[in-house]
Amino acid sequence: MENKKEFRNWLDKMSLDHPLVIAGPCSAETEEQVLKIAHELKDTDVSAYRAGIWKPRTRPGMFEGVGAIGLNWLERVKKETGLLIATEVANSVHVDLALKHNVDILWIGARSTVSPFIVQEIADALKGTDKIVLIKNPVNPDLSLWMGGLERIYSADIKNLGVIHRGFSSYDKSKYRNNPEWQIAVEFQNNFPDIPLICDPSHIAGKRDLIYDLSQTSLDLNYDGLMIESHWDPDNAWSDAAQQVTPKRLIQIMKDLKIREKTSDGEDYQNQLNNLRSQIDVADQNLLTTLGKRMKVAKDIGKLKSDNNVAILQNKRWNEILGKMILDGEDHGLSEEFILRFFKAIHQESINNQKKILNK
Ligand code: PEP
Ligand code: MN
Repeated sequence: MENKKEFRNWLDKMSLDHPLVIAGPCSAETEEQVLKIAHELKDTDVSAYRAGIWKPRTRPGMFEGVGAIGLNWLERVKKETGLLIATEVANSVHVDLALKHNVDILWIGARSTVSPFIVQEIADALKGTDKIVLIKNPVNPDLSLWMGGLERIYSADIKNLGVIHRGFSSYDKSKYRNNPEWQIAVEFQNNFPDIPLICDPSHIAGKRDLIYDLSQTSLDLNYDGLMIESHWDPDNAWSDAAQQVTPKRLIQIMKDLKIREKTSDGEDYQNQLNNLRSQIDVADQNLLTTLGKRMKVAKDIGKLKSDNNVAILQNKRWNEILGKMILDGEDHGLSEEFILRFFKAIHQESINNQKKILNK
C-alpha cells in the first residue's frame, strides 16, 4: 500500500485549527440519552458523535447494544446538531444498516481487527464507499495485524481512512485497562505517515482520571485526533462506566490540552523536537518497566538460591550473558564499552537485591 496524501483529504477538508475530536457515549442506551449528550457536545471542538449500537462484549450476558433502532437516534443527532455520526461495525449486516442510516464514520473495533476473516467481510460490504473508515488496533500487540486490517480496507477501494490507537490487552496487571505500547503506534505512523492517527484514551485508560494525560501524550506524539467516551451520567452508563467523562469535563479537557504548533511542511524545529522527545519519554518508560521486570526475576532467583543454599555469584553464567549481550548490542548499534557498563550496573543491582534476600 502506497502512502498518499489523499488518505487524509477527509480530515484536511474539515480545516480544523485543533485536533479532530470524536466523542459520545460508549453505547447508545436510549433516544433521550443519545440526544442529551449530543446537544451538550454541539458547538464545541467535537466534530463527530460516536455511540456503539452493537457492543462486542468479552463475556456474554452484558449489555450488547440497542441494535438497529439506535441508528435512527444517531440520524436525529446529525439533523439536530450538525455533528457527523460514527459507530462500530462488525459484520456485513451492520455495514448495510449503517450505510442505510447515513452514518458518516464507521469504525472496526479491536475485537474485529484481530480477525482477517471479519475485516475482509466488512471490507467487501463497504467496497468503494466514500464514508470514513477507521480501524482500531487489534486487542493483541501485533503491528502487522493492524497494518493488515488497514490494507484490506484500502484494497476494497476505500480512500477515506484512519486508524485508532486504543491500547493492547496484557495478562499482566497495570494501571491501564489496555497498555498503550506507544511505540507500536509510533511505528504505525512511521510506516503510514499519511494515515490519520487517532488516540482513544478512554479504552487505554479504563478509568476517567487518566484520560487527560493520555490525550496530551498522544498530541505530543503528533496524533491527528482523539476519540473520547462521554456520557451525561457516567457512573450509571450501561457499559464502560468507569472510563466515561461528562460532556462538561470533556469540554474542560479539550480546553486544557496543549496543542503543539504544526507547520504545513511539518519541518518546524520545535515540533519535531517535541515529537522526538515524546518518543524518548516513551522509550524510557518502557526501559524502566523492563528493568523492573528483570529485577523481579532476579529476586525470584535469589529466593531460589537461598532456599537451596547456593552462592549468589555464578561466574560462568554471568560471563555467558555478557558475551551474548555484547554481540547482540552490536546489532543494535551499541558499543561494547556501553554494554559492559550498562550490564555491570544491572548485574550489581541484582546482586544487591539477592544479597538482601540471602541475608534475611
Ligand atoms: C468502543 O469503542 O466502545 C469499543 C468497544 O472499543 P474497542 O473496540 O477499542 O474495545
Ligand atoms: Mn467502550
